[in-house]
Amino acid sequence: MTDFIAPFETAATAELRQEIETRCGLNPDFALRIGNFGFLELESSWGDEATIINTARVSTTNHRVEALDDFSDRDRHLLYFLLSKNHGTPFESVYFRWRIIAPIFILRQWMRHRVGSFNEFSQRYREPITAYYVPDEAACSVDGVRIISDEQLDRYNDLMDSLHRFYQDTYGEIKEKVTQLEEAGDIPKIEGGRNPYRARARELLRNAMPVSTYSDVYWTVNFRSLMNFFDLRRKSNAQYEIRLYADAAYQMFHKRFPLLGETMDRVLAEKGNADGE
Ligand SMILES: Cc1cc2nc3c(=O)[nH]c(=O)nc-3n(C[C@H](O)[C@H](O)[C@H](O)COP(=O)(O)OP(=O)(O)OC[C@H]3O[C@@H](n4cnc5c(N)ncnc54)[C@H](O)[C@@H]3O)c2cc1C
Repeated sequence: MTDFIAPFETAATAELRQEIETRCGLNPDFALRIGNFGFLELESSWGDEATIINTARVSTTNHRVEALDDFSDRDRHLLYFLLSKNHGTPFESVYFRWRIIAPIFILRQWMRHRVGSFNEFSQRYREPITAYYVPDEAACSVDGVRIISDEQLDRYNDLMDSLHRFYQDTYGEIKEKVTQLEEAGDIPKIEGGRNPYRARARELLRNAMPVSTYSDVYWTVNFRSLMNFFDLRRKSNAQYEIRLYADAAYQMFHKRFPLLGETMDRVLAEKGNADGE
């Protein structure tokens, strides 16, 4: 893992770094650091293989299963049959809640997955996270051939540093000016709550933040849509950086739902997904 890179650490960045450390300690099997400041956690899930079977059986029988331990071969076969024949809605009855700390360019690809819900850290209400994405050795290479040199990487780092510094310096100047105007009685002094003068500065200055800036997101998604995400974003033609996250999510999902994971892999492999396991 590349060392943490931030030109300087603001309160928001320090808080998030602490949060990552805390979550990795509390949920070690389902929380993982990715890249120089990234993070993924399967924070919670709702439902399981039995939920899927019981949901499907509402149309045919009242034979319910309570948990995976009760599964007969017939139940296992039904799970596979439903998934392979695109009987999709029972698979929408299981939900996952993921915490994703990733650069904006990755999240931009992720949010194209419209079936699911996102909530994101707001640079309108908070200063940006001052960590930005720094490609590691593998990210800088294709088939072992280095395509971006150390010198080019240094220039990239300088540019990212200067953009983050521009934000901090300019925002600092505006804050000072707002304080002076308040003290002179030229604008009302706002105690607590949102300060519209500072807020306008944030709204404008965030435009200078590069897509390499890290952001913080919750993603709530059902299994059907999650499977589509794995199918598309774990393939070798998906961008390396989102693949790292998709692969990590896949491992966590498998650990929590081994039967559903195996069934999904079988169906994806039959569908011709070369990367299905
Ligand atoms: C390797 C790769 C390259 C890509 N390149 C580009 C690119 O160059 N430009 C670009 O814009 N996008 C690109 N994408 C994004 C891609 O087109 C999809 O938007 C994204 O992968 C989300 O997939 P999805 O629509 O299946 O998922 P979701 O949006 O989660 O939708 C899930 C499923 O719901 C159904 N659905 C959702 N919305 C609709 C709808 N409006 N009408 C009908 N059915 C719907 C579909 O069956 C869909 O598969 C790329 C994706 C990958 C993996």
